[in-house]
Amino acid sequence: MSFLHNHSAGNLAATVISELEALSLPPTPHVFAVWYAHVAGHDPALSASIRSRQTLGQSLTAEVIEELHDAHIQNSGSVKLAERSSRAVIMEIDGIVDLIKMSLGSTSNYSEKLSLLLGEMVTANDPTALKEIVATLVKATDETRGMNQTLEKGLRGARKEVDDLRKVLEDTRLETLKDALTGISNRKHFEQSIQAAVESAKQSRRPFALLMIDIDFFKKFNDTFGHLTGDKVLRVVAQTLREKFPTRATVARFGGEEFAVILPDADLMAGWIGAEAARQSMEARELVKRSTGEKMGRISVSIGVGTWTRNDSALSLVGRADAALMRAKANGRNRTVTEDQLDISAVA
Ligand code: GH3
Ligand code: MG
Ligand code: MG
Repeated sequence: MSFLHNHSAGNLAATVISELEALSLPPTPHVFAVWYAHVAGHDPALSASIRSRQTLGQSLTAEVIEELHDAHIQNSGSVKLAERSSRAVIMEIDGIVDLIKMSLGSTSNYSEKLSLLLGEMVTANDPTALKEIVATLVKATDETRGMNQTLEKGLRGARKEVDDLRKVLEDTRLETLKDALTGISNRKHFEQSIQAAVESAKQSRRPFALLMIDIDFFKKFNDTFGHLTGDKVLRVVAQTLREKFPTRATVARFGGEEFAVILPDADLMAGWIGAEAARQSMEARELVKRSTGEKMGRISVSIGVGTWTRNDSALSLVGRADAALMRAKANGRNRTVTEDQLDISAVA
């Protein structure tokens, strides 16, 4: 240990390792993360907790450290999930960078020492001196090997934790693309998906369809049955749409009681077929208030369908599908209108 230590003064990870050694604590990833955060001053609350235990003369066992890890590193209740995980990732990465620096440092120190000793060996002709050199060499090799094992173990554990944290971050990211009420994609995800669909269609020259969907007379439904029941209907509509389209389609809540579907590899006809299937399935559903059994009638939707053509931007396509939706409303609701019907003055 001392061999490495002398050469890595000021290295945080080395300080952590030696302090852990002094406390007879194993440098497992959690223990390392806690002590690293403490030594680096990343978490004043954690350090205060450690100091108060030391002042009270309580021994810091691996179990105690595990509790500190849960409380301060894994689950600081006051911070939001995203902040918490990114903070943990940063702390973890700081630790790994230091571990790697230390590992590189120990290897180059070792080779420096090795060549120095080999040089001395060549010139030494006294057997006692040779014996001493060999002994130093063996000691340095052992120390380096021991340290490398510790580092490897630490790195392996840290890598797993970073992978876990990366998954948490990814889940958190996906959560920000979901609509809280219905669980389908939100407006933000819709915007991202349609941009991506336009880019991909430009490359492949294969069109995709866009459906804009609006619930008919929803204000009246809310006024009759209340907003909370209205919310439940929004969930039913979202679920029905999700079921009617393949998983690779983006089904989003565009806002309020409006929805949008991006249907990949679909021309206007395929878009119309999908829209009609969804519209009819909604129309066929009789809504019943679960708590009372009260019948609430049916809900219908109006749908406008557009399809990507060359030179279309996301905005121009949304504009046409929206115009088709308005035409569906004007023509009597509970129907699908495709963009090619826009220049016809009245569609039955
Ligand atoms: P139209 O057939 O012309 O679309 O009539 P409409 O009543 O559906 O349209 P309007 O735009 O007049 O009203 C939309 C209603 O949607 C008004 C609002 O109360 C309701 N709404 C929007 N967002 C929500 C929501 O999150 N929950 C509930 N329950 N209602 C919502
Ligand atoms: Mg509307
Ligand atoms: Mg409406």
